[in-house]
Amino acid sequence: MTIGPANSTPSGSDNASPSLWQRWNNLPVWSQIIVGMTLGLIVGACLGPQAQQLKPIGTLFVNAIKMLIVPLVFCSLVVGVTSMENTTKMGRIGLKTMAFYILTTAIAITLGLLFGYIIEPGANLNLVAQQPAAAQETPSLVNTIIDLIPQNPVQSMAKGDILQIIIFALALGIALTATGEKGKPAIAVFAGLAEAMYKLTGIVMKFAPYGVFGLMAWLAGAYGLDVLLPLLKVIVAVYIACLLHLYGFYAICLKSLGKLSPVRFFKVVFDAQIIAFTTSSSAGTLPVSLRCSQRLGAPMSTSSFILPLGATINMDGTALYQGVTALFVAQAYGVDLETADYLTIIATATLASIGTAGIPGGGLIMLTLVLTTVGLPVEGVALIAGIDRILDMARTTVNITGDIMVNILVSKSEGELDLDVFEGSKKADIAA
Ligand code: ASP
Repeated sequence: MTIGPANSTPSGSDNASPSLWQRWNNLPVWSQIIVGMTLGLIVGACLGPQAQQLKPIGTLFVNAIKMLIVPLVFCSLVVGVTSMENTTKMGRIGLKTMAFYILTTAIAITLGLLFGYIIEPGANLNLVAQQPAAAQETPSLVNTIIDLIPQNPVQSMAKGDILQIIIFALALGIALTATGEKGKPAIAVFAGLAEAMYKLTGIVMKFAPYGVFGLMAWLAGAYGLDVLLPLLKVIVAVYIACLLHLYGFYAICLKSLGKLSPVRFFKVVFDAQIIAFTTSSSAGTLPVSLRCSQRLGAPMSTSSFILPLGATINMDGTALYQGVTALFVAQAYGVDLETADYLTIIATATLASIGTAGIPGGGLIMLTLVLTTVGLPVEGVALIAGIDRILDMARTTVNITGDIMVNILVSKSEGELDLDVFEGSKKADIAA
């Protein structure tokens, strides 16, 4: 299937269509994406369940982005490590990043709890739990740490295990630097491959409007009003809290900690936000997040470490959603929560969001962990499951924006952010 070949006249007369097609091609990608999204919504709402048939267009695009993740992350991280002057700097960046990630996540969940408390999405539902909460097994810290080291890096890549890939790329990068002259040809190969992957990301992004159209049509067709209405309050609470976290909290962080313009930041990250919104996958958005960070002046040496780590462990939106939904379940089943329960939810949701996979629905699985830890009925998950994709779209958007923001702030604090590129007075040096 060919989507929008450059010189074709998609349909109709030769005189009228080419100019329309050219005008379309001249639009910047972000406005093409908005058009794709809006048309997708309209077509999906009109076609109803039949819109499922448009899903393959979206899947094609999602697969193309996923194809880039492992080689892109691996090559750019190896090159990133070899370009850092010393390991002390790497350790410092790692510490700063982790501190930021954990702090912003804890704030996100507190905001979620606050909105769940104010909006009371589960009030008056009066549900009765059928079964007491079953004990959930929490993965042990020791096992989690042991699993970080890949026994077979090729297998980690085949499985797409980002944390293991990060560890191997860090180790290989350090070893290549230590090898000196002999390691240089290998570094050049990785640098060349990384450039090719950036180029490929640019090419795949040209198909984003069509992919987004397919995904939105499918979603609008699959989720009619009847699915949405009963749980509208949960959706409203999650969306308002997400918007506040994005445009309130992140804007304050950028302005006060980085002395950077939030307006410019949000303008550039919009491409990544739309991809996150429509695919509901932080991991899947990674190539676009890297590209946006480059356009904001962050060097690949830091971005290639901070962003993959963020896509795996930093989930502000997911934590916020767990706060709202835990309160929703408590209210729906008439369970009174004490201060200690709130603190337990904050601690568990922060940890659970670290363990959440950056894939669609990852947060819903972890919600069972949060609910059982505070003794709330797990059946609540079934209530949320019906609208989870709608919530996932908002929380993934917050997740990846948080990753990019931390990347920009840490890069700035290391004196590595190109301010001219950030402000837009100089163009970033990236493949189109
Ligand atoms: N879909 C989210 C992400 O990829 C994870 C979640 O389900 O909360 O970031």
